Amino acid sequence: QSIGILKEQNGDPRVCVGPMTVGKIIKDLGFTVYTEQSAGSQSGFSDEDYISAGATVHERNEVINKADILLFINHFRLPHLDASKTFIGIVNPLFHYNHLMDYMKPEINLFSLDLLPRTTKAQSMDVLSSMASLSGYKAVIKAAEVSNTVMPMFTTAAGTIRPAKVLVLGAGVAGLQAIATAKRLGAVVEAFDVRKAAGEEVRSLGAKFIEVEGATENKDAGGYAVEQSEDYLQKQRELIHKHVSEATIVIATANIPGKKAPLLVRTESVEKMKFGSVIVDLASEQGGNCELSQDEKIINHKGVKIVGSSFLAREIPATSSQMLSGNFFNFLKHFKLIEEGEVQNDPIVDGALVVKEGKLVNERVKSFLI
Ligand code: NAD
Repeated sequence: QSIGILKEQNGDPRVCVGPMTVGKIIKDLGFTVYTEQSAGSQSGFSDEDYISAGATVHERNEVINKADILLFINHFRLPHLDASKTFIGIVNPLFHYNHLMDYMKPEINLFSLDLLPRTTKAQSMDVLSSMASLSGYKAVIKAAEVSNTVMPMFTTAAGTIRPAKVLVLGAGVAGLQAIATAKRLGAVVEAFDVRKAAGEEVRSLGAKFIEVEGATENKDAGGYAVEQSEDYLQKQRELIHKHVSEATIVIATANIPGKKAPLLVRTESVEKMKFGSVIVDLASEQGGNCELSQDEKIINHKGVKIVGSSFLAREIPATSSQMLSGNFFNFLKHFKLIEEGEVQNDPIVDGALVVKEGKLVNERVKSFLI
């Protein structure tokens, strides 16, 4: 069987698999590897790097025609296909289910790695955790760059400068990495989450955990948060209002899979922030945690800069591509084992399988469509 590594079509500089993993795909898994021309060029990987690792390089249509399994990151418009193909990417079908229409053809199987179960066994393939962790890190670096003040305390002959106050909304993978990064830079950090379990992790990073009593939790939600009542969100916004007005940097990461992001920061709260403060909203693609956020834009509202970006991992493409390479390789390895072993009902492969021979088979995606 053969693997095709595709170049991203939407300007995303990352590549799903870098040359560092190609050798392992060939030697350990026994696949032939075809790479699209300049697939990794924006992540710092040349065609020669792929060739040295054992792949051959071709133009896009040739890769699509030759390979049995095609690897990519973002959804793209599929060309006409003459033979049966398996696509493995990250198409976010819970939120962008319209993307699935393209794959509803009898010759197509689609796996979307954002649907992998968040279990210990699937951790090595967990693209969401890899990208969230890098985005959380980059959000703080970005905020530090855009902010008009410093992060750590400065004790100088000119006097003492107080450290930045960073507020992190949502203490999942991105939020925890944001907390750790802001702490390393010397900021005073506090964080909110609706999941009680997040409190311990926040405190273990040396930050203060703020919570609003009465959150709804669902043990069957796979560790994810669930939507909260408007009454709860109102109480939460009131408490957040107080903390936002004291913060110089807000990193907003609160999300609920497949749903609009919870609105946590109102305009009136932004207007209480000091001139030069920064909000980085990683939930902007899902509608944003801040009322003023605009996806993929930096806006200035009365002196407060609001960075709306759900894809900050793209701004560190070499590291992102390296992590994705590891995740894709581990999925391929598991996928091959399961295919060869004829195991029925593997939770990892079944969890990521969205379309089988043109038909929507994923129960989680189906439940979101109702
Ligand atoms: P996510 O991106 O879906 O959401 C980010 C955070 O926002 C979550 O912590 C969520 O609780 C929080 N949130 C949602 N609504 C909120 C609100 N109204 N106010 C404040 N916070 C709100 O989540 P994620 O980072 O992908 O992680 C989700 C869970 O999965 C976490 O419990 C994480 O520890 C777990 N996880 C497990 C594994 C594993 O075991 N392999 C891997 C990754 C994540």
